[in-house]
Amino acid sequence: MKRILLLGGTKDAKDLVALLSDRADFEIHMSLAGRTKAARQAQAGSTTGLRIGGFGGVDGLVAYLRDQNIDILLDATHPFAKDISWNAYHAARQLGIDHLQILREAWQPEAADTWLVSPTIGHAVEALEAGKRYLLAIGRQEAHHFARRDDCWFLTRSIEPAAPHLAVPRGACLLQQPTGGIEEEQRLLERYEIDAVICKNSGGQASYGKIVAARHLGLIVHMIERPTPPPSVKVSCVNKALRWLNQI
Ligand code: NAP
Repeated sequence: MKRILLLGGTKDAKDLVALLSDRADFEIHMSLAGRTKAARQAQAGSTTGLRIGGFGGVDGLVAYLRDQNIDILLDATHPFAKDISWNAYHAARQLGIDHLQILREAWQPEAADTWLVSPTIGHAVEALEAGKRYLLAIGRQEAHHFARRDDCWFLTRSIEPAAPHLAVPRGACLLQQPTGGIEEEQRLLERYEIDAVICKNSGGQASYGKIVAARHLGLIVHMIERPTPPPSVKVSCVNKALRWLNQI
């Protein structure tokens, strides 16, 4: 039996656990950063196989992989979770264990889209137009970067509230998981008279509704590009990850 450490925090990671749960040839252990209430509750309800919290950089991850006799490291973290993916790459190389990154494909603009692409959040902050109203959909940890644009109005959407010490961009906050529904997103953009959407190029379907809604309404999307991923072996979806696992 091979022992897998799965770095999670995404739907792909959950799907992979479900798909591997009845496999006798793999024992899967999931790791979460523990940023969300859902993650902490999952740990409370879990009997085995789930750990929460950082490892302590590359050295900590190497030690954990060694102590736990992990054979395979699967990185199914979010495309913007750069540090943990690079740590995973270096740790797996140090130990010479099998390592795969599941990195869903980035969204590509369609002919009817108007995207202003920013290489970083800082560039997106600079690119905004004074006096405009924005849907800020980049998650609660980084929304505070936009607080200094008090010449704009933001509908800041996140699943959980930002930590109290973080600055809040001027405007309103909406605690909501995006449904991916196009009509719902369109109604939201209209209700708040949004001029443009700010988001990360996360890829996948779960949060693509706002991009299509912006397209339908002719709104600009400030698309923040992904950080550079490590040069790991990669697949774009869970099914391909399963195929890779079956081959090794
Ligand atoms: P990050 O910047 O790459 O990670 C920062 C530190 O958090 C890492 O160095 C590591 O600490 C710890 N960490 C991250 N993911 C971990 C995991 N799965 N298990 C154990 N420790 C982990 O990541 P982030 O952007 O803060 O994201 C944190 C988590 O949220 C990830 O699991 C990611 O999949 C999920 N997420 C992120 C985004 C996003 O936009 N960034 C969106 C949706 C979900 P040590 O160095 O101490 O090991």
